[in-house]
Amino acid sequence: MEYLPLCMKLTGYPVLLVGGGKVALRKARLLSRAGSRLTVVAPVICDELRELLQLHDGTWNCAGYQVDDLSGVRLVVAATSDSALNTQISHDATQRGIPVNVVDAPALCSVIFPAIVDRNPLLVAITSSGRSPVLARGLRSRIEAMLPAALGRLAAFAGEQRDVVQAALPEESTRRLFWEKVLESNLAELVLAGREEEALALLRESLVDSSTLERGEVYLVGAGPGDPDLLTFKAARLLQRADVVLYDRLVNPVIVDMARRDAERIYVGKRRSEHSLPQAEINRLLVDLAHSGKRVVRLKGGDPFVFGRGGEEIELLARENVPFQVVPGITAANGAACYAGIPLTHRDHAQSVRFVAGYLKGNSVEHDWSQFQSPAETLVFYMGLVGLPVICAQMIAHGRPPDTPAALVERATLPEQRVLTGSLATLPEIVAREAPSAPTLLIIGGVVTLHASLSWFTPGA
Ligand code: SAH
Repeated sequence: MEYLPLCMKLTGYPVLLVGGGKVALRKARLLSRAGSRLTVVAPVICDELRELLQLHDGTWNCAGYQVDDLSGVRLVVAATSDSALNTQISHDATQRGIPVNVVDAPALCSVIFPAIVDRNPLLVAITSSGRSPVLARGLRSRIEAMLPAALGRLAAFAGEQRDVVQAALPEESTRRLFWEKVLESNLAELVLAGREEEALALLRESLVDSSTLERGEVYLVGAGPGDPDLLTFKAARLLQRADVVLYDRLVNPVIVDMARRDAERIYVGKRRSEHSLPQAEINRLLVDLAHSGKRVVRLKGGDPFVFGRGGEEIELLARENVPFQVVPGITAANGAACYAGIPLTHRDHAQSVRFVAGYLKGNSVEHDWSQFQSPAETLVFYMGLVGLPVICAQMIAHGRPPDTPAALVERATLPEQRVLTGSLATLPEIVAREAPSAPTLLIIGGVVTLHASLSWFTPGA
């Protein structure tokens, strides 16, 4: 190992930064985040650096660098474009035993800055020992994506409760096991969700009886419209933690596969007029699984609260005091709109958008059609494939011009996506001819004309 990664306390300590340009600014941001007392030496400094110094009570010394500037500093950073000066600073600092960093000159450094993932107080530092900063940064962005944004809250919470836990569990190995359990449990999820008070109550209970940490919980998770890359970070993380996954037909199997290998997978999917499991049984199953101590992820296509009956599923959970969380997903309308190049609102076409259920009850779609007549509103019909001829006819019958643009987006965001466009008058015939397969989404309004120019997604690419 060429370098030993250490963490340096700078809070309240004087640090010297030589240089006033953009590179110096980047270092100044880091140094002030670490709470150092910053002095910048440079004849000129950029505006942002000046503002930063004002904000953090730093000092700007506009004279040239002098060796006396080093007196009493805990760290010196040289970020000038003058390599002779940088060498001089490195030499002076080394002679005085002051840690020195020269930007982009590893040979002149006694300390180097790692790339960091900041979940303060939790920090991840990555370094290539100065060999390939780009590689280190690339790795950082991957780690960045893996760690929940609120992980710092969890570290802070654990820090605050350390003494309490130590007093209750004086024996070291028992305490370590306890913390391992806590950090893997639903308690950790509570903290990540910003619910520290509930987490604290649970922690106190679990110090008396650690089985409370094994309480089941249900996560109602939106899986998005199809493309697995549209999953949220939170959804991906909870899937990895689930003991059981319940999913329906709309959920892409690739997403279901993201669950742990040993997680139980239960298909509860619904197809039009073929319900694999009646809704009431799904609701009951969620409660029973949670009561048996399972961590359950209920995956729903799109967003759980948009035509997803998510409300019904959590009603019973709430009544039976089962802890739950709801994780939003990208709803089909958003996915279809973006992947088909049909903005849902647009200055020139639509100032509002309405999501409408388009399924047939008997032979009709029950709506007050007179409400849907604003030319400045985009209408998105979910579940409207079978009822499409009725929907188009009703819209026309209630006054929308027959040439109002309309599109049917088939299997939106998936490689098989297809967009059929026409008007209220022509779309039913086009759809009958092309025979698209579900799921499909019907979009009506002037915005549909933008598809021709804004479409970017090449299916199957
Ligand atoms: N909760 C889901 C909607 C469930 S209702 C969401 O927020 O998206 C089911 C309807 O959603 C389907 O009949 C269809 O109209 C629409 N839908 C879901 N995924 C779709 C997709 N990939 N492409 C087109 N429509 C989709």
